[in-house]
Amino acid sequence: MKTRADAAGLAAFVAASPSPFHAVETAAALLRRAGFEELDEAAPPRPLLPGRGYFLRRGGALAALRAGSAAPAEAGFRILGAHTDSPGLRVKPRPDAGAEGYRQLAVEPYGGLILATWADRDLGLSGAVALRGEDGDPVLRTWRHDEPVARVPTVAIHLDRKVNEQGLKLDRQRNLPPILGLGDWDGFSAWLAGELGVEADDVLGWELGLHDLAPPAVGGLDGEFLFAPRLDNLASCYAAVVALVEAAPAAATQVVVLFDHEEVGSRSRRGAAGPVLRQVLARAVRDHALDAPGGLDRAAARSWLVSADMVHAVHPNYADLHEPGHKPVLGGGPVVKTHAELRYATDAEGAAFFRLACAEEGVPCQDYAHRSDLPCGSTIGPIASAELGIRTVDVGAPMLSMHSVRELAGTADVPLYARALRRCLER
Ligand SMILES: [Zn+2]
Repeated sequence: MKTRADAAGLAAFVAASPSPFHAVETAAALLRRAGFEELDEAAPPRPLLPGRGYFLRRGGALAALRAGSAAPAEAGFRILGAHTDSPGLRVKPRPDAGAEGYRQLAVEPYGGLILATWADRDLGLSGAVALRGEDGDPVLRTWRHDEPVARVPTVAIHLDRKVNEQGLKLDRQRNLPPILGLGDWDGFSAWLAGELGVEADDVLGWELGLHDLAPPAVGGLDGEFLFAPRLDNLASCYAAVVALVEAAPAAATQVVVLFDHEEVGSRSRRGAAGPVLRQVLARAVRDHALDAPGGLDRAAARSWLVSADMVHAVHPNYADLHEPGHKPVLGGGPVVKTHAELRYATDAEGAAFFRLACAEEGVPCQDYAHRSDLPCGSTIGPIASAELGIRTVDVGAPMLSMHSVRELAGTADVPLYARALRRCLER
């Protein structure tokens, strides 16, 4: 079946989502437009009506569901999981820095970024700021600044003659603080308050990072490629949200969960090792308008979790970094990721579930396994699977330049990915 998911839609999703907070707002807007209602976590419970859609937000994390036509204990859950965060540079709490007449910003790396790719980029700022509220409680405001205020300049090759032989090496402490301007200033917090239109002492905290201002672009001779930041893992967030919006209602309760903090270990109130998914599933069991004996344990035994995160496509200049027989190509469709030591959660049943979904949808399906002599990355799959005891498969769409400030995916994969994920919700 057709889907509205395409490279232009993904490009718009990425451009609207420079931070996890923005990704959640972008996803919430798509859900609202499709008739999903926002739930207030602090409000008393209310019945979840079969076929109706709901979502809740927690900072950079979001969970959405469409209540099944049967109680979860009878029909289980079909869950798509992804993550909103991407590697980058985050602003420290007292970031005022400078040397040799430059105003600078103290930053620290977030996640496993390729540091050198952040050099010589026009950088904006985005994330959330905690402000003093009317009644004294803090209020979180999502904020972005899309002027090129920051830059991490490289040093000239005349001063670093070995740069091409040794690579551009950036020290995480000394070489990353971007330059913001020249001369004296009142400091970052005062500048931020001015941008937000609040008093300086109303700015009480922030989770802000830098983002590259170059917009996403479709490229290649025939438009095969999408060049964009944060494709890991906004491509999966986008595909999962579109899949949920487009999915036909089913007996099972359909769930999409977008976690934060995957790139730094997932152990937080917004991460996959936190309570978000368990709380949402428990709530769906408790509040579903239809009742059935057995609760969450019985529902979990009938459920499937598809952990959606990006995959290493084979690179023509580095093809020997791939395991023979496991070289996903751009445009070749979604990929099942398997790892014997469970850096990916895929087991035989999970792989079968996803392959059947792809076959039913007429979508090609590829395989990825890491070379045995290289350490393998991981996903939310093993964490969520171990926490809930739900059968799980790790999948993704192929890409290059993972964790670069600017990544690369295949345009043809966007609709294939969304269709496969949608079929997983409908099975
Ligand atoms: Zn990822």
